[in-house]
Amino acid sequence: MALIVQKYGGTSVANTERIKNVAARVAGYRSRGDQIVVVVSAMSGVTDNLIKLAKDIMPLPSEREMDMLLATGEQTTISLTAMALHALGIDAVSLTGAQAGIVTDGVHTKAKILNITPKQAHALLKAGKVVIVAGFQGQTPEGQITTLGRGGSDLTAIALAAALRADLCQIYTDVDGVYTADPRIVPCARKLNEIAYDEMLELAGAGAKVMQLRSVEFAKKFGVVFEVRSSMNDNPGTIVKEEVRSMEDVVVRGVSLDKNQAKVTLVAVPDRPGVAARIFNALSDAAINVDMIVQNVSHGVGLPATDLSFTVDKPDLLKATKVIESLKAEIAYREVISDENIGKLSIVGVGMRSHSGVAAKMFETLAKENVNIGMISTSEIKISVIIDLAKGEQATRAVHAAFLESKPA
Ligand code: ASP
Ligand code: MG
Repeated sequence: MALIVQKYGGTSVANTERIKNVAARVAGYRSRGDQIVVVVSAMSGVTDNLIKLAKDIMPLPSEREMDMLLATGEQTTISLTAMALHALGIDAVSLTGAQAGIVTDGVHTKAKILNITPKQAHALLKAGKVVIVAGFQGQTPEGQITTLGRGGSDLTAIALAAALRADLCQIYTDVDGVYTADPRIVPCARKLNEIAYDEMLELAGAGAKVMQLRSVEFAKKFGVVFEVRSSMNDNPGTIVKEEVRSMEDVVVRGVSLDKNQAKVTLVAVPDRPGVAARIFNALSDAAINVDMIVQNVSHGVGLPATDLSFTVDKPDLLKATKVIESLKAEIAYREVISDENIGKLSIVGVGMRSHSGVAAKMFETLAKENVNIGMISTSEIKISVIIDLAKGEQATRAVHAAFLESKPA
């Protein structure tokens, strides 16, 4: 008998038919004698709709009231899922985040979990019941309802699996697992049997959005092994776990293309101490996430000047250029240029640590495709390049072929 935490995302509970399917799957595990805790998201589209309703009333609603509102999405799903199990003759009880003992700090709309004391869940499991927990929500020690940031049901599941010392944590979604690339771009992409936490984190950071980033960080910190799999079939998924030695045998685990980046270039920035600090402090004060940064070697005659480029999430581009323009008088750069037509192509793999020539092979592949590289950044296990968006998919296929497809004999 195993204790299993299963998380079902919005598309897996999108309508009552799908909720009945979830109940049938849970029933299957039950009949093997397993103890099951089910974590559910809001039905797909519900959270977005609630946000829209709030914004119809006022542009910047109180964050406490937002949490009160958004928490209702998951509360709808837990009760419907419990009923679907009852309809199959299975004893099931739904719990809100608070009832499941999920205690958070008071940062509304992006609260952090402080601790979990799942007393009710333990008692219910012991009494032979299936426990259904509302994802994405918790409660402060003072009793205020909070939410954990978009996609936060993943975090609820991982954290509950850690707190309950579950034998298995399954994240059910609408894809079969983690792939070597997005199958919509690379039709021959393969599902991975396993992947290391760090690779999963780098791929997620590179735009491959399978799971909420914070939940993977949490899983890594607490050593929660989990499986990403589909709720639409019975195929085994991808196991996400601590890196083991043999994982280094593969140089590149996956390729990803992030189309959601934009580039800002400040031309002829005075090359003196404090300038970069001023620019990036102003961006950070505006809550703009900067990803890549490249500064050229000083050029020009007279006062040394340099070009400085950085990338931001596309929706933040306008905000970012406004911030930069507000610094024009103070910093005295010549002009600011922005470019939305870029893509960030990344390759990720722990094998890069022990293999050389990986970057050269990637660049050579891009050269053969006549793709120009605008910016480069690397970590121990990732190489990212900024390229022309129009060539993004073609470049992704070429790089996937170079590293992840065996050559015909
Ligand atoms: N319902 C929340 C969202 O859409 C949480 C989740 O789905 O994980 O972000
Ligand atoms: Mg979701």
